Amino acid sequence: MSYPYTAPVSQTLFDRASVVTPGGVNSPVRAFRAVGGTPRFMVSGTGPYLTDADGREYVDLVCSWGPMILGHSHPEVIAKVQEAVARGTSFGTPGEGEVALAEEIVARIAPVEQVRLVSSGTEATMSAIRLARGFTGRAKVVKFAGCYHGHVDALLAAAGSGVATFGLPDTPGVTGAQAGETIVLPYNDLEAVREAFRAYPGEIACVITEASPGNMGVVPPLPGFNAGLKALCAENGALYISDEVMTGFRTSRAGWFGVDGVEPDLMTFGKVMGGGFPAAAFGGRADVMAYLAPAGPVYQAGTLSGNPVATAAGLAQLRLLDDAAYERVDAVAAEIGSLVTESLTKAGVAHRLQTASNMFSVFFTEDEVTNYAEAKAQEAFRFNAFFHSMLSQGVYLPPSAFESWFVSTAHDAAAIERVAAALPAAARAAAEATEEGK
Ligand code: PLP
Repeated sequence: MSYPYTAPVSQTLFDRASVVTPGGVNSPVRAFRAVGGTPRFMVSGTGPYLTDADGREYVDLVCSWGPMILGHSHPEVIAKVQEAVARGTSFGTPGEGEVALAEEIVARIAPVEQVRLVSSGTEATMSAIRLARGFTGRAKVVKFAGCYHGHVDALLAAAGSGVATFGLPDTPGVTGAQAGETIVLPYNDLEAVREAFRAYPGEIACVITEASPGNMGVVPPLPGFNAGLKALCAENGALYISDEVMTGFRTSRAGWFGVDGVEPDLMTFGKVMGGGFPAAAFGGRADVMAYLAPAGPVYQAGTLSGNPVATAAGLAQLRLLDDAAYERVDAVAAEIGSLVTESLTKAGVAHRLQTASNMFSVFFTEDEVTNYAEAKAQEAFRFNAFFHSMLSQGVYLPPSAFESWFVSTAHDAAAIERVAAALPAAARAAAEATEEGK
C-alpha cells in the first residue's frame, strides 16, 4: 500500500526514536505496524483535536486509548493539575488527594468497599490477581482469549490488543511456570468456564474478564454472561474479577457495573480515573481487600502510588463527569457510529458496528463477533485502507482493526462534521482494498 500523506517531521522523529528505543515507541501499537506508514508524533491536544509535529490537525478518535473523556486540555482539569504541581510533585507520604479520589471511586461503584491506588492498569490487574491468589490460597487463573489485562506475565496468553495485532500466540520471556497456571477460555462461553471448574476443583483462584471487552475490537458480553461468571465463581469459591480499566468511568458513571449491575468481588480501574496521568486502582470487597499489606499479608506497594498530581487530575476529571457528560459522550458515539455504518453501507462494504455504550468499533465482516476467533476472521486489510484514508483527511483512528474507538464530551458538531466529510472516501478505499494490496 502507498500512503497518501507523508509526515516528514514525524518520520525524522521516528528515525531518531528508533535508534534509542526498540521499534521507536514506548508501547507497541503506537508504531503503526498493523497499518503501516509513519506513526504521527503529536505535540499538542485541544478538545477533540490533536496536532502533530508536522503541524497537521486531526479529529482524535482514540482519546489516548480512553482516558481523555473530556477531550484534551480541559481547562478545569489543567487548572487543578497546575495547582497541584505548584505544591510539589511527589512526597512519598499519604496525602488528602488520594483519599478524595478513593472516596469518589467508592461512592460511584457499590461493589468497591475499599480501593488501593496504583500507577497503571497493568499494576492493577497484576495486584488483583496476586490478592485473589493470596485470599483463596489457590493458584489457577481463568482468563478469556482476546481479553487484554495489561502486560502481566501470567495474563499474556492469547491476549488481545498489541498481541492480537501482531498475531503472536504468546510472548517470549513469559515462562511456562508463569503462564502454566493460566487457563485461557473462549470469550462468551459459559460452558467452557463450567468445564474448567469441573476439571480443576478447588484450584481456581479467580476468573478475570474485561467487563465489556474492547481489546479485540468491541465485543460486549452476551446477555447473562457476566452474571453467569459471577454465579460460577461464587459456587466454586473463586473470586470474580471485573477488569474495568477501559470501561471504568467511561461506559457510565459507574462504568460497566453501572450498565449490567453484576457485582464483582474485585475490580480494576485505570485510564479515565487518571485524567491523562498515570493513576489506576483495584478494589472490591472489604474482607478481600483486608488481605492487602499493611492490613494483611499480601504484599503490594508503589513509590508513586497515589501521586498528588495524578490524583488531582483524576479527581478533577471524575467530578466533571456528571450525567450530562455521559449523555453527551453517548450521543457523540452514536452519531459517529451511524455515520460510519452509513458510509460503509453506501460503498457496499460488509461490516458490523459493535457498541458497548459509548465504546464502539467496526469489524469488516457481516457476522456478529462474540469472541476472539470471530474477531480475527474479519477482513482486517480493509481496515488498513480505511484507516489511511481517514488519517490523510485529518481523522485519527486507532491504528489497528482490533481496538475500540473512543470519543469525548469535546467532540462537537464541527469535529463530527470533519469525520462525516472524511468517511465516504475512506469507505471507498475500504471497498477497493485487496488482501494483496495491504
Ligand atoms: N486492562 C484493560 C482492560 C486494558 O484495556 C488495559 C490497557 O489498555 C490494561 C488493563 C492495562 O492498562 P495499562 O496500559 O495502564 O497498564
